[in-house]
Amino acid sequence: MQYEPYIRLGAFGGVFLAMAIWELAGPRRQQTFGRHIRWPSNLGIVALDALLVRLVFPTTAVGLALVADARGWGLFHLVALPTWIVVVASVVLLDLAIYLQHVLFHAVPVLWRLHRMHHADLAFDVTTGLRFHPIEILLSMLLKLAVIAALGTPAVAVFIFEVLLNATSMFSHGNVRIAHGLDAVLRWVVVTPDMHRVHHSIQSTETNSNFGFNLSWWDRLFGTYRPEPSAGQEAMTIGIEQFRDPRELRLDRMLVQPFHGSVGGYPFGRWTGGT
Ligand SMILES: [Zn+2]
Ligand SMILES: [Zn+2]
Repeated sequence: MQYEPYIRLGAFGGVFLAMAIWELAGPRRQQTFGRHIRWPSNLGIVALDALLVRLVFPTTAVGLALVADARGWGLFHLVALPTWIVVVASVVLLDLAIYLQHVLFHAVPVLWRLHRMHHADLAFDVTTGLRFHPIEILLSMLLKLAVIAALGTPAVAVFIFEVLLNATSMFSHGNVRIAHGLDAVLRWVVVTPDMHRVHHSIQSTETNSNFGFNLSWWDRLFGTYRPEPSAGQEAMTIGIEQFRDPRELRLDRMLVQPFHGSVGGYPFGRWTGGT
């Protein structure tokens, strides 16, 4: 565990670099808004999010898992299972929790206000996968800590899950071309860029589909799977109906997006939250 920060940073840097090169070598779409406009803001928000999580929370997710283990908290301490089964089950259940959280952020208007910043990116590439509003990041950290304490997930499973989710989020947002046959095979297990791009369509029926980040099973299981955007991968419009002015791609504008403008027609929950 002493190498934990290095493994995290190495995996992040390695996957980011690989995706960035792949996007140059084999892009899926012509991007209307290029890297020089979007990357400083998208990467700026990642740094801000990481700093904020460190400042706000007294523990990391792995730290809490170690405490839960020492004190015998959580479901997994009530049953005697082989360690490898507990680790695999923990990673899968954490992924399910993230899927359900993502659905919730699309259903509840006030949560959608926070999450829509992720969708307001006017192009779709590796940095889109890192672009989340700081308040959304803090709320999802809170939920993750609650799930870890309730399940008693081993620290190693939390570590694997966090590194994996970070890597797969960059992969699934890649503006990269993958042969159709390979994409179809990969989709049976993981969310591919072509699958997740549907989720970034301007059309609300498409925005409200393909919520998975990591495993593609949840969308198929819960009926939220949509194989392709109706306009096609190359012609589809990326983003949401609000915030289409390129000035909205600036970091300061991104941070205030939850707090201005109407909630719009995207949230599918019945509770309107008053706006
Ligand atoms: Zn979303
Ligand atoms: Zn996304």
